Amino acid sequence: MIEVRAYAAQKAKADLAPWKFNRRDLGPNDVLVEIVYSGICHSDIHQVREEWGEAIFPMVPGHEIAGIVKEVGSSVTKFKPGMRAGVGVFIDSCRKCENCLAGENQYCLEGMTGTYNGYERDGKTVAQGGYASAIVVNEDYVLHLPENLEMAGIAPLLCAGITLYSPLKHWGAGPGKKVGIIGLGGLGHMGVKFAHALGAEVTVLSHSANKEADAKNMGADHFILTKDEAVFEKYKNHFDLLINSVSAPMDLNKYANMLKLNGSLVMVGLSGEPYPIDAFTMLNQRRRIAGSMIGGMKQTQEMLDFAGKHNIVSDVEIIKADEINKAYDRVVNSDVKYRFVIDAKTI
Ligand code: NAP
Ligand code: ZN
Ligand code: ZN
Repeated sequence: MIEVRAYAAQKAKADLAPWKFNRRDLGPNDVLVEIVYSGICHSDIHQVREEWGEAIFPMVPGHEIAGIVKEVGSSVTKFKPGMRAGVGVFIDSCRKCENCLAGENQYCLEGMTGTYNGYERDGKTVAQGGYASAIVVNEDYVLHLPENLEMAGIAPLLCAGITLYSPLKHWGAGPGKKVGIIGLGGLGHMGVKFAHALGAEVTVLSHSANKEADAKNMGADHFILTKDEAVFEKYKNHFDLLINSVSAPMDLNKYANMLKLNGSLVMVGLSGEPYPIDAFTMLNQRRRIAGSMIGGMKQTQEMLDFAGKHNIVSDVEIIKADEINKAYDRVVNSDVKYRFVIDAKTI
């Protein structure tokens, strides 16, 4: 067994505190990644606080993991010690269902194996995440990180980055398309950068007036302050694609009304609450509401390579592990610019 240092919540809503536990010894196809930076995703907070239902404790959250390969199992071919390596939201899947075979392993029909708050494929080992000094993962679920980008800014690409890249690609964000990103947080700011790099006309829809300058610096062409109710009428029938990255409940109908003919509103934010939909709003302009969950391993690698080519990283605030609880409160208050990343040396 490999003993690792970590930060864990011992029960629901508890503060995170230092904890030690064991990772499995390396199997032939496993990679031991020494974690350098670990991002804080709002999903970590939802799960520690049981906002999505019952969770498993003790819980070591963290699924935006950037590190260096320390050791590899005897049959590993894709990684060598010293290489950069990333781990995202899942660490395995069945590998044989229709979706896994199609490269969409995040939608594995048996359920993807989450990086934490779930069981590994043996059905009994609790998976523990990235707020830790190291992690052991099968090489097929480890990603190559771009060499030209700084590590701290790469970590959030493993969840926030792919979660926005995937729907932007699926719904054809590109030249001539009006794309709106709702919520400028960890996910949203990656959406702005990717949509801009893909050539779309990008608008940020935010409830925080003080984020306008940042949005424009990230590549947004326009900024809409949604506290001003008049904007919902002004931008009626306007967008081809809206991606909702807001972590709190909201009235989706007001936003759907901003879609033009055949436009799509894609949900990636997960408040945990149901959203009432007005059918009249949806049938007008043949609008659609859809959802999207992270991305498969293949597309995640494509996203990382794209980020390397276009010099795209997350805007991060690097924190020490003992600042995690304070950071959680700031994330909930929409006060993060734009992703907290834990320096794993301090765990
Ligand atoms: P975040 O950094 O907290 O960003 C959320 C943003 O939503 C905030 O910055 C804020 O933007 C806006 N917002 C927050 N509270 C609001 C409120 N009460 N009213 C209106 N706007 C509000 O969170 P994140 O890490 O980006 O995650 C966003 C959501 O996506 C979470 O629910 C998370 O669980 C989910 N998620 C989904 C996936 C997936 O695969 N689909 C993957 C990762 C995360 P403004 O200040 O600009 O308004
Ligand atoms: Zn996440
Ligand atoms: Zn599968």
